[in-house]
Amino acid sequence: REEEVPVAELAERSPSPVRITNRDRVIFPDAGITKGALADYYEAIAPAMLPWVANRPISLVRCPQGRARKCFFQKHDAGSFGDHVHHIPIREKDGGEEPYLYIEDAAGLLACVQMGTIEFHGWGALIADIERPDRLVFDLDPDEGLEFGEVTAAAAHIRDELAAIGLATFAMVTGGKGVHVVAPLRPEAEWPEVKDFARRFATALAETQPQRFTSALAKARRKGRIFVDYLRNERGATAVMPYSARAREGAPVAAPLTWEELRALDRPAPWHVGDVDDLVRRAASRDLAGWGRADQALPGV
Ligand code: ATP
Ligand code: MN
Ligand code: MN
Repeated sequence: REEEVPVAELAERSPSPVRITNRDRVIFPDAGITKGALADYYEAIAPAMLPWVANRPISLVRCPQGRARKCFFQKHDAGSFGDHVHHIPIREKDGGEEPYLYIEDAAGLLACVQMGTIEFHGWGALIADIERPDRLVFDLDPDEGLEFGEVTAAAAHIRDELAAIGLATFAMVTGGKGVHVVAPLRPEAEWPEVKDFARRFATALAETQPQRFTSALAKARRKGRIFVDYLRNERGATAVMPYSARAREGAPVAAPLTWEELRALDRPAPWHVGDVDDLVRRAASRDLAGWGRADQALPGV
């Protein structure tokens, strides 16, 4: 649909092509962070974040009235996000097809924020080939009361086990309670094969160290253990994207870090939206330059 935009409005849009309305609306009451501040966060972090979030199907956690009010997880949409948020039709399990969302640039990120988005989650595959994952993720979910040191040690153990079979991995704090261990993949194997690998790996962990790990979804099995959520690796599943803010108390963010940093970390969510300068600087640092990058395939494929 062609639309004529008055010249005055075009000028107003410049330099940022996305206008953020209600900049003073408080999105994080506890942290005092407004919609405008959240938009500024995403604009600043965009260069670091886009390599991970662009050009893959995304799901959004939207809280239009702020995180203290109703939030919802949105997977698809027919077009209310404007020109900077794109669609890719994806066939679902039930045989139907839905328009999934993807973005390409900072304007896309900001268009989502304008629509009340706090969190960005993504598929483990690019829109160029949605059937072949470019990433494997083990989502470590500790039982309540478990010390964070147990989680960092468990993540390092998983790193070592995967390294032993030829997979380099990278650590990310989710901004919540756990850690994601991420293995980039060349998009070769399809979802069922990747999921099967993840299931077998998680099951083996739980069998060899049952006091430490469980791969069972049942909450009762988690007592004092770390749930290795391998189900992030099935078609249609998502994981929170690097540098996404979280709709949780204090405006924490998901953040890549080095294995050395993770080993020294004593709390799960060290970075917040307000740490944007530090996060931007870190992302450009030599230590994190290679984060999430490895040219590798699923073992035995
Ligand atoms: P934490 O470290 O606190 O566990 P997390 O982001 O790993 O944070 P999980 O609850 O373990 O949170 O969820 C893992 C992933 O599963 C999320 O990042 C998200 O992409 C997906 N997910 C979570 N809740 C939903 C939901 N209601 N609908 C769809 N996907 C969800
Ligand atoms: Mn988790
Ligand atoms: Mn989980």
